[in-house]
Amino acid sequence: MSLWLSGIGVSRGIGIGRVQRLHGGDLEIPEYALEPADVEHEVTRFVGAQRRAKDELRQIRSQIPGGTPGEIAAFIDTHLLMLDDRSLTEAVVTLIRGTQCNAESALKKQRDALTAVFEQMEDPYLRSRKDDVQHVSARILRILLKQDKSVPAQRTEQSEPPVIVADDLTPADIILLSQQGVAAFVTEYGGPLSHTAILARSFGIPAIAGLPGARRLLREGEQAVVDGDLGHALADPEPQALHFFEAKRARQRTDRAALTQLRDKPAISRDGVRIKLLANIEMSEDALHAADLGAEGVGLYRTEFLYLNRQDLPGEEEQYQAYARVVAAVKGPITIRTLDLGADKQVDSGSRQGPTPNNPALGLRAIRLCLKEPELFRTQARALLRASAHGAIKIMLPMISSVQEFRQAQQLIDAAAAQLRAEGHAVADQIPVGAMIEVPAAALAAPLLARHARFFSIGTNDLIQYTLAIDRVDEEVNYLYDPLHPAVLRLIRMAIEAGERAGVPVAMCGEMAGDPRHTRLLLGLGLTEFSMHPASVLEVKRIIMDSNVAELRRRAQQVLAADRMRDVQDLIAGFNHG
Ligand code: PEP
Ligand code: MG
Repeated sequence: MSLWLSGIGVSRGIGIGRVQRLHGGDLEIPEYALEPADVEHEVTRFVGAQRRAKDELRQIRSQIPGGTPGEIAAFIDTHLLMLDDRSLTEAVVTLIRGTQCNAESALKKQRDALTAVFEQMEDPYLRSRKDDVQHVSARILRILLKQDKSVPAQRTEQSEPPVIVADDLTPADIILLSQQGVAAFVTEYGGPLSHTAILARSFGIPAIAGLPGARRLLREGEQAVVDGDLGHALADPEPQALHFFEAKRARQRTDRAALTQLRDKPAISRDGVRIKLLANIEMSEDALHAADLGAEGVGLYRTEFLYLNRQDLPGEEEQYQAYARVVAAVKGPITIRTLDLGADKQVDSGSRQGPTPNNPALGLRAIRLCLKEPELFRTQARALLRASAHGAIKIMLPMISSVQEFRQAQQLIDAAAAQLRAEGHAVADQIPVGAMIEVPAAALAAPLLARHARFFSIGTNDLIQYTLAIDRVDEEVNYLYDPLHPAVLRLIRMAIEAGERAGVPVAMCGEMAGDPRHTRLLLGLGLTEFSMHPASVLEVKRIIMDSNVAELRRRAQQVLAADRMRDVQDLIAGFNHG
């Protein structure tokens, strides 16, 4: 009998295949006492398993396909670091020796103790580290228990790709599974911002997350359809339903093939408006793939990923090399954002001491941290300025909330440039410095900021969080996170209008810019530069090429005038379908 299930569609497309359920973290862990003579053998067994876990992860890391967001490699690096962390590994050895228990039970005890510590943490980023402890421990446990294939063995050539159903999947699992061929993923946990979701999107595999009880409700081996657009799974479909979804899948495949034809075409609307489509990147390696996917340059390089998952801070030379690599890899313009640390992105290097703030998102973050620690900023500014000698870069300042902050940062950059020139380094004559518009204050004061900034880039991820007072990583309230809220749309329009009046170019680099459902609305609000995950560029380009911007600008006025969410939604549906 057919069964419909609903979760959150996190990666679009239709997947059809037989269900393959994966066991997750729920391993049965034996506990027994050791004879004294066996203790050292047990220690060796544990250390061997830990080494093997490291080898596996290193191998998986080397297989990450091009175009995958840099944060995925960084995520695996975190697990590699954790596998060397004394609080995990040496503590287990001490437990085996001290309590003469088997390796599995010692690891379980230490895993539970560390998880409890992370659970107590106020900071959401640190709290989420407990998942890393669990993933890493599960990897070693599976090796110890000789169940090290959470991921099934390689499929035979003929067998059809399965629908993988799991409680949760690590990035490493997803990379392995994708290489073997997967029709779709269904997980019980996670949401659109989880790593499963990010990775499934970069592999183009349909996925549903947040479907509780999926492993109980979907039976091993039965046929299932996964609709990643709508977040539905259909088990054991009737022939008619199956036919409907097969036809939908075939249409989507043809569609995707047609999209690649647009790669080298400029994004020009039907009424002749030229739009720039740029890529958001997280690591210099990502730059190489952005152009392959149709991006004309880089609109946001999130440099904080150079600082994460390590014990020390990157020096000027290391940063210079990374920026120079991006400049060498990208033909078009490159906007590099200065350090945006704080809130959900904390460094391990211990450069920040003191108590954890109650509201890190409202605290010492991004440009505030850089102005408080000018040495940190100066090192980065010098590296950026040296890289400017090799190609056209722009410097973008995150979380600007006043003219004062902008000017202070600009002065530090100017002073660094003067010093570099005095030392005999080559630095470009003109390096445009711009402001991110991601705090409501910046949008409201955009006409004043436009007197100083050479460009704006609207960061909707934070602009929405700060305008609607919704912590973007708090699962309890993220249902309120709404890019179409009238207050958000008005702030976006204000920033664009201020730019238009002052002749300051305005881009958008938040997730909203890469969401095809919002493309026409943003064109109507006057946006001419979109920066997004490279995988979305072609779809957004097709919509632009099929739009009449003058007409959309008239219709956007009605959206801005609407006071009810329903009306906003109806008007936008009209944009997209009529
Ligand atoms: C944003 O806030 O929209 C943005 C692009 O910055 P981040 O997501 O890195 O905070
Ligand atoms: Mg931001």
